[in-house]
Amino acid sequence: MDLRLCCLGPGYTWISFRLGFSLASAGFAFLIVIVLLSLLESFVSSVIFSVFSAACLNYYFTEPIFSFSVASPQDLMGLATFAITSLIITALVRHTRHLGDARREQARLLDLTHDPVFVRDMNDVISYWNRGAEELYGWKKTEAIGKISPQLLQTRFPVPLNEITDTLLRTGRWEGELVRTRRDGQQVVVASRLSLQKSENGRSLAKLETNNDITERRRAEDALRRSQAEYLAEAQRLSLTGSFGWNVISGEVFWSDQSFRIFEYDPAIPPTIKGVLKRTHPDDVALVQRVVKQSIDARQDFDFKNRLLMPDGSIKHLHVVAHAVKEDASKLQYYGAIKDITATRLAEEQLHESQVELAHVARVTALGELSASIAHEVSQPLAAIVTNGDACLRRLDHATPQPEEMQACVQRMIADGRRASEIVRRIRALTKRDTPEKTCLDLNDVVNDVALLVQHEIFTHRVSMRLELAPALPPLLAGRVELQQVILNLVLNGIQAMDGISDGPRELLIRTRQDEVGDLVLTAQDSGTGIKPERFGQLFDPFFTTKPDGMGMGLSICRSIIEAHGGRVCAFNHIRRGAVVQFSVPPSA
Ligand code: ADP
Repeated sequence: MDLRLCCLGPGYTWISFRLGFSLASAGFAFLIVIVLLSLLESFVSSVIFSVFSAACLNYYFTEPIFSFSVASPQDLMGLATFAITSLIITALVRHTRHLGDARREQARLLDLTHDPVFVRDMNDVISYWNRGAEELYGWKKTEAIGKISPQLLQTRFPVPLNEITDTLLRTGRWEGELVRTRRDGQQVVVASRLSLQKSENGRSLAKLETNNDITERRRAEDALRRSQAEYLAEAQRLSLTGSFGWNVISGEVFWSDQSFRIFEYDPAIPPTIKGVLKRTHPDDVALVQRVVKQSIDARQDFDFKNRLLMPDGSIKHLHVVAHAVKEDASKLQYYGAIKDITATRLAEEQLHESQVELAHVARVTALGELSASIAHEVSQPLAAIVTNGDACLRRLDHATPQPEEMQACVQRMIADGRRASEIVRRIRALTKRDTPEKTCLDLNDVVNDVALLVQHEIFTHRVSMRLELAPALPPLLAGRVELQQVILNLVLNGIQAMDGISDGPRELLIRTRQDEVGDLVLTAQDSGTGIKPERFGQLFDPFFTTKPDGMGMGLSICRSIIEAHGGRVCAFNHIRRGAVVQFSVPPSA
């Protein structure tokens, strides 16, 4: 620089001097050189040249020439103006060059990042485009700059563009996913971050956008979602469970493939509530409508079981559960599951039938054990009838008829006949194998029924049976025969448990009461051998018996009968002696 200055300065001055330039013209010419130098050279060179120029102007172009003194104040003013102007120009150019350098440096750094970055003005005209953008979109910087970005990249926005612009102007930023088309026509999904560049006075200048290519990630997620959907569809098919969505306000219904299969509707036709009700068994339509209406009114979940009547006349049993999604007061949607429980229902029905059969067998077995007792119970009133009939005949033969005594004999005969026929009726009821019908019963009455049947058994086993029946018990809703069977089992077990007792009394206490929660409780307490602690866990298991000729079904049947009545059964040893088997059932509502 210095060498060039050494040549340029004096040379330039000599030319200007020879050409006879005035102070103003020479100063102007020097200013042009200073501007050029500032643009091309360093700040120091420009300053040196400015000082040199001022000195030259003073020496050659002000009176007296060839002297550094200045005669006229105008020349002095001119020199001062030149010096100040040249310094201002030098500083300004330096500042501008700095800004340019900084911009270039920023652009260089942005080029280094792999992320696509580009800037566009408020009309979306691209003004900056980095190397990352070139690589992602395939458009060169020279091709992209000046183009309108949404058109060049065929951008698909997730929301209308004016919404994005509103957010950007309001908050200064926007983030979202965009789908764009590369130069080669391929689509890319990008996570886009937009920020607004503003001037110092708050005017929006440009939009800076950085992108992340998430095409692969989205593709993988879509694939995962697809495979999850396939797994879900398969699981729904296997578990016979369909899913549904229902927008109560718009009436829109969504079904999974399995739901279409359950209802046997064509998946191409959108499902409707009308279609659901059309398939619902006529006897269940009112129930379904009631439950659903109540749930909608209360904006609550629903859970019900119903039947479908299919076009071929077959019946399907469904279990429907749905969760209410209440986003706000005006919206109500249900998401739910429909499970086809036909197979389970049929299995339950079969199980119930076998239970009824088993209960019948157990009762017949128990009656077999009681046969001696029953024969005695029936023969006793029959013998009494015969005796009373004889007595009646004798009184008829008598010379003086005794009508009161004959009436008493006939009344006893009628009472005995009734007793015998009552026993026969109860035995017949017990041997019947029908599905029990629940009626309102007095627990104490049922205990008395059983007590009548086991009279002889009690007598032959030398057991003393005591009944402690709480008065005025509330009624319970139960099958009479079933409840008789339970009590009969407990009584027979108690009697048998005392068989081996040679010392001490053989006492069987049947007690009824109402417990603190209002349930009806029956306790059968004996003074027998008691239950070995290790057997407690198996006592109610089917086929568990410790008796050589036992079936092991008695307590198991008792438990299923009591549980079917909403009750519980348990067994424990009495603190003094023997065992206590107890059940509790809720009274009828
Ligand atoms: P089973 O009478 O045919 O054996 P259960 O189911 O009625 O069938 O009884 C199962 C087992 O429970 C009996 O074999 C017996 O060991 C025990 N058990 C039932 N009741 C009593 C009782 N009151 N005292 C002692 N053991 C009892």
